Amino acid sequence: MKAEIKIALAGNPNAGKTTLFNRLTGARQHVGNYPGVTVEQKEGRFSRGGIDFRVVDLPGTYSLTAYSEEELVAREYLVNEKPDVVIDVVDGSNLERNLYLACQFRELGIPLILALNMIDVARDRGIEIRPDRLSKLFGVPVVPIIARSGHGIDQLLDTVVNGDFSESARQPLNISYGEDIDLALAELIPLIEEAGLLTDTYPPRWIALKFLENDDRIVDRAFREDSRTADRLEKVVTRITGHLRNTVDAYPEAIIADHRYGFIKSILRQGVLAHKYDTDRLYTSDRIDRVVTNRLLGPVIMVGVLFALYQFTFSYSEIPVAWCEAFFSWFGSRVDLLMPDGLLKSMIISGIIDGVGGVLGFVPLIMFMFFGISILEDSGYLARVAFMMDRIFRIFGLHGSSVMPFIVSGGIAGGCAVPGVMAARTLRSPRERLATLLTVPFMNCGAKIPVLTLLIGTFFADHKAWYMFLATVAAWLVALLAARLLRSTVLRGRSTPFVMELPPYRFPTFRGLFIHTWERTWQYIKKAGTVILAISILLWGLMSFPALPEGRIQHYEQQRQQLLARVSATIKDELEQGERAGLSPRARQLAAGLLEIDDAAAEERLRYSLAGRLGTALETVSRWAGFDWRTNIALLGGFAAKEVIVSTLGTAYSIGEVDPEQSKGLSERLAADPHWNRVLALAVLAFIMFYAPCSVTVVCIARESGSWGWALFSMAFNTSLAFFLAVVIYQTGMVLGLA
Ligand code: GDP
Ligand code: MG
Repeated sequence: MKAEIKIALAGNPNAGKTTLFNRLTGARQHVGNYPGVTVEQKEGRFSRGGIDFRVVDLPGTYSLTAYSEEELVAREYLVNEKPDVVIDVVDGSNLERNLYLACQFRELGIPLILALNMIDVARDRGIEIRPDRLSKLFGVPVVPIIARSGHGIDQLLDTVVNGDFSESARQPLNISYGEDIDLALAELIPLIEEAGLLTDTYPPRWIALKFLENDDRIVDRAFREDSRTADRLEKVVTRITGHLRNTVDAYPEAIIADHRYGFIKSILRQGVLAHKYDTDRLYTSDRIDRVVTNRLLGPVIMVGVLFALYQFTFSYSEIPVAWCEAFFSWFGSRVDLLMPDGLLKSMIISGIIDGVGGVLGFVPLIMFMFFGISILEDSGYLARVAFMMDRIFRIFGLHGSSVMPFIVSGGIAGGCAVPGVMAARTLRSPRERLATLLTVPFMNCGAKIPVLTLLIGTFFADHKAWYMFLATVAAWLVALLAARLLRSTVLRGRSTPFVMELPPYRFPTFRGLFIHTWERTWQYIKKAGTVILAISILLWGLMSFPALPEGRIQHYEQQRQQLLARVSATIKDELEQGERAGLSPRARQLAAGLLEIDDAAAEERLRYSLAGRLGTALETVSRWAGFDWRTNIALLGGFAAKEVIVSTLGTAYSIGEVDPEQSKGLSERLAADPHWNRVLALAVLAFIMFYAPCSVTVVCIARESGSWGWALFSMAFNTSLAFFLAVVIYQTGMVLGLA
């Protein structure tokens, strides 16, 4: 007996692999009723009866060709890692379709067990399956299970342990593909065997089939290994392909697929199904779909559901978000009281506590969003949304499933790109997923809103609502057009056909929902947390170093002393002890005077810091869009978090840090400034809406795309685009004299 048995779980999307995986390992993995949730493979271990098992949850696939990432991942794993047993999880309520993949496993000759899952669903639909018949005809063990309840899992493991999976017991299945293909195979196989081409990894017949199916990966590999033999094989394939095109007007792969289905149908007809499929009967799911995907009613329901999800995410999370904020500001004020003034204190408060608070502040949002999406996903509704939206999003090179990330990111103004980027996980095809990841930050997230409100309220006060609405429309427009641009340049490639089936509706389980939500949230904290903290400290450093020279600090100290020297001791005492509101007019005047000095000092400190110098240096370029050093610094700060823009502007205009929610003072200051006007405000607005996403989003893009390259690309691409728009607006506006 081996020390450890290596099991791989394979099967169609939604067949129940992850549910089974969780049952076996007790691990907490997400169970989603939506293809593409398991893109990466998950591994777990468990032991039973003194035997150790290692299980891998492979991505769901319908086939084993090289058409999609998932199929490749699954195939490569099976042939390279050589698991001891492959458990093909088959949806018993959709047997014919699921056996297509099983059929290819048999052709590949891997050690296989069929786990006949969802027999409860099948039974409800009046389908009775005879596992023993299926096993006999298909030539592999078949174990009926209900992964959700755990029924049959013991028997499944017994079969894993006791079954015979030796080389001789698992001869690859040889299906007849009709005369033409069979003849071609008879010609190809000896060539492959003679040359020993890839035969260490795959059965010869399978390699021949892949050549006929024109599988890039296998053909490329064959050419690299032995180009002479591969060339000879290709010649035969070209000949037979031409012949088939002439005679039956079809490609070999279509004929091969037809014969596989024929093989499956014939098995099912031989007493495997005790009751026949009753295709005319309307199942509950179909009945629901009649309404929910109805051409008129469907979109209305969808808008309602999306809006509800949005509300759910952003209003219910407000309470815990407020707790979070309250906690961190309380904590910050404690540190402020307990520590002596200085660099260390400033770093702890502005770098670390703000950074950690910034990371954790998103946690309630992410939890609520994933909880909402899990409900839609697990119930099967998300697939319908994707289905309905696909026609529109396809125009822009996106996928129907992109709608969710866009909405969450601020498609309805006030969202957040962090959960939005994470919501892009539901997309299957890599290119469309990347295009979605890169464009969702264009939406107007909740942190941009205070800046938009400030500028619109200051310069376009008479049409406030109208301008806010325009900002939302502009965000969608730019995002979708940018997606189109990306998809026809850096992310060029055919759209994935919408092959996704509509899974039957199911009631989500609470366990599943909670596990899913927690998993995603924890991943965010774990993967994004440290990097974001580092960025926060870095930005703090940029704004704090170098410190003002001693002389300047002295200068402000002197001003304070002079001011204090002019008033009597009683007023100073009053100021030290009293409440602001209860102060005498003279004490209030003193307080205001001191604050003015502090604000001026803060402004000079900011300007003297690295960030300030950078902002000043950038003026040479940013002048094109009319931005001065103050705006530049605020925009730099906005990279930490967009709400920082308002507070940094406040410091730069020497009126102290401004609370983004109450920016009246700043608004008056800007309105009075001769440098500012409507044209500049519009250019700044456009820039803020579209420039680099905030650091948290960038980190999430890096994590979700699996590469820092794309994260950097998104910063560069968005900033260039935003700057281009800002320059165009500013220059045109100035030339036309609209300022
Ligand atoms: P995967 O895509 O193959 O990983 O499939 P999942 O494990 O995510 O399962 C898809 C859905 O089917 C989930 O909502 C599960 O709760 C549900 N499910 C899994 N197994 C069974 C079963 O045996 N019976 C029923 N009724 N539902 C199941
Ligand atoms: Mg899964």
